[in-house]
Amino acid sequence: MNSPENPLGAHVLLNQLEWKNSFASLPSEFYTKLSPTPLPDPYLVSVSRKAAELIRLNPSELSSGSFVSIFSGNAVPLGADPLAAVYSGHQFGVWAGQLGDGRAVLLGEALAPSESSGTLELQLKGAGKTPYSRMGDGRAVLRSSIREFLCSEAMAGLGIPTSRALCIVGSDKRVLREMPETSAVVTRMAPSFVRFGSFEHWFYNDKPAELKQLADYVLEKSYPELRESANPYQALLREITHLTAELVAQWQAVGFMHGVLNTDNMSILGQTLDYGPFGFMEAYDPAHICNHTDQQGRYSYRMQPRIGEWNCYALGQAMVSLIGSVEDTQEALAVYTPSFDSKMSALWNAKLGFQVSDSSDAELVESLLTILARSRVDFSLFFRRLSSIKLDNPSLDNAVRDLFLDRASFDAWAINYRQRLKRESSIDAERKVAMDKVNPNYVLRNYLAQVAIEKAQEKDFSEIEKLLTLLENPFDEHPDYQSYAELPPDWAADIEVSCSS
Ligand code: AMP
Ligand code: MG
Repeated sequence: MNSPENPLGAHVLLNQLEWKNSFASLPSEFYTKLSPTPLPDPYLVSVSRKAAELIRLNPSELSSGSFVSIFSGNAVPLGADPLAAVYSGHQFGVWAGQLGDGRAVLLGEALAPSESSGTLELQLKGAGKTPYSRMGDGRAVLRSSIREFLCSEAMAGLGIPTSRALCIVGSDKRVLREMPETSAVVTRMAPSFVRFGSFEHWFYNDKPAELKQLADYVLEKSYPELRESANPYQALLREITHLTAELVAQWQAVGFMHGVLNTDNMSILGQTLDYGPFGFMEAYDPAHICNHTDQQGRYSYRMQPRIGEWNCYALGQAMVSLIGSVEDTQEALAVYTPSFDSKMSALWNAKLGFQVSDSSDAELVESLLTILARSRVDFSLFFRRLSSIKLDNPSLDNAVRDLFLDRASFDAWAINYRQRLKRESSIDAERKVAMDKVNPNYVLRNYLAQVAIEKAQEKDFSEIEKLLTLLENPFDEHPDYQSYAELPPDWAADIEVSCSS
């Protein structure tokens, strides 16, 4: 039976999903096969119906006992071939050597019958120790699992490439972080979990044959159209660099800060991956550091574009021998700046409601960012409210202008902005509709996640549901939930997020 939500065909029951694990077709040095460690007395915390739809899982299954068993790691579905993958990486700019899935277990791809393309791999994060756990306990706490779950689905709602999150399963089993916390497993979905650090692993271990096997695997699985290029490895690096540059531009445009842009957290698909101490910009400060552990600000908002490029260079370094020459590698990496710049300026233009671009736009954006920083204006609220200004009536600007300590700075900027809009004969009503489609009303502010976490720690999961509903459609207005779109309360300033997860 086809439904509008499900154009491909019928929903399937859990036991009708066919499992395979294409990563397991690589030689055994690439992973360790192992089963997830059972999670005691698991219970469902939350499930994303939209994510479940991607594997066409019947909604009736989402609260079933077998669902909880599989996605807590307590039962391995028939046909799955679970494994933990090895990778390495640069952490905070320093070569860290071997890392690997220290607490994630890849079940494999879940294929709904008759599905032909777009398969997703499912991975249990927090599913117990693996040979790559180093000093860790293999678990994830409920707190960080809720953050990852909500932000994955929020990014999807914003239209930004990301791994998805199917569900969180919790347990009262306690694990020790700064203090004891309960644990959880979050199930992530992505077409591939290969990271920049997966390539670096073989390069730094001087294993050219494995490096080539990995590149061929990635080409075959994720970039089949590039296999016919004159130099497929160069084409692969160019495409990954391009997608990464565009991804970072999309982060900047919504004020998202990843927080730990190590090369082991960089997806070769240009998707947002590994949500930890991320944050959304509130009071605009380009130097803002969202990760309390990042004292130098390597991963601050303003550094992200450069770090995205640095990470692509790290990948390029690992791929030089495959590509054949340093020059050809550099040529592929050279797409980063133009890809970032053109995506970024298109996004700023859309945020400001421009239909065509103009040579003065970069200056207008720069002067805007200067006054936003000077008055520490809330980034999301500013752009959302800007859509309601009327070209011919500055006296109605208060909702926007009241966000500024220095209101005169906004008034001066708004004169240029209005002139610019008039030059393209912008129409108020049309501009508002267009701007409200790109400037979210709801972002996952830290304090919103914090409220949901604190309630969940008391076994009340309703706030997660509420946030999920708002964040799945972040451009909509929900008059009953307008407070979720407003300025954070004063206590939010004290929230610190770190790598502890
Ligand atoms: P992350 O900072 O989450 O990207 O993790 C960096 C590395 O540490 C990866 O290899 C993770 O698998 C590993 N890791 C993080 N937390 C744990 C944990 N609690 N147990 C085992 N490994 C972990
Ligand atoms: Mg990671």
